[in-house]
Amino acid sequence: MNDKLLSERLKLVANYVPVGSRVADIGSDHAYLPCYLMNHNRITGAVAGEVNEGPYQSAVSQVKRSGFSNQIAVRKGNGLEVLSPGEVDVITIAGMGGQLIRDILLGGLEKLEGVKRLILQPNVAAHLLRERLSDLNWELVEESIIEEDDKIYEILVFDAGNGKKPYEGFDGKELQKQLLAGPILMKEKNDAFMKKWQNELKKRERILLSLERAEGISEKEAQVKNERDLIKEVLS
Ligand code: SAM
Repeated sequence: MNDKLLSERLKLVANYVPVGSRVADIGSDHAYLPCYLMNHNRITGAVAGEVNEGPYQSAVSQVKRSGFSNQIAVRKGNGLEVLSPGEVDVITIAGMGGQLIRDILLGGLEKLEGVKRLILQPNVAAHLLRERLSDLNWELVEESIIEEDDKIYEILVFDAGNGKKPYEGFDGKELQKQLLAGPILMKEKNDAFMKKWQNELKKRERILLSLERAEGISEKEAQVKNERDLIKEVLS
């Protein structure tokens, strides 16, 4: 496989895969990520999971073309149902909303037995993953944020461990802020981070303007105001 087929976003995901792992890439589409990992001798084998027929067929073709049919099993199915417990050490799920990624993980908790690392790239709502996975004792160990083709992407890496550790010493509003924007990303606040949260602030301000003109929406208004205030603090 030509490396140029893989986006910078997925290359960043690939960099977090420990050498020698067995990986499941759920929602693999063309299976570019597992093929790239095999090509670079980063993994010993993979499962590429896909729920939809079109992307499943693309994955089958790409794996054949790349010559990895013996190492990469392409399986059709919903979320983690394509896996047997203990089959892989690492799961990657990229390019979907945070809510869908969370639901995929919650729908197959028994398949996470023996998994050491989750590498997740939610297109939106990363906070839903930080919140839920912390409760499930997955410890956030790495975060990245990058801009590619005018879009901003977050990558979150969780290891089986102490889910509360990254948030030790934070409570109340400060904890909400950490969960929203990411405790590791908050330390650096790089350009992509600042751009993302400036855009999110503008969105909340537009919503509040339109809510001011409507009636009977005070609950929604209070929620958006709370988010706006948190974001202002994130940016400060
Ligand atoms: N992971 C690739 C990437 O990051 O470029 C593809 C992302 S694509 C936008 C999302 C893929 O996830 C689609 O191919 C879709 O068919 C698949 N998908 C969505 N829900 C899924 C589920 N519940 N189980 C498995 N695959 C799913």
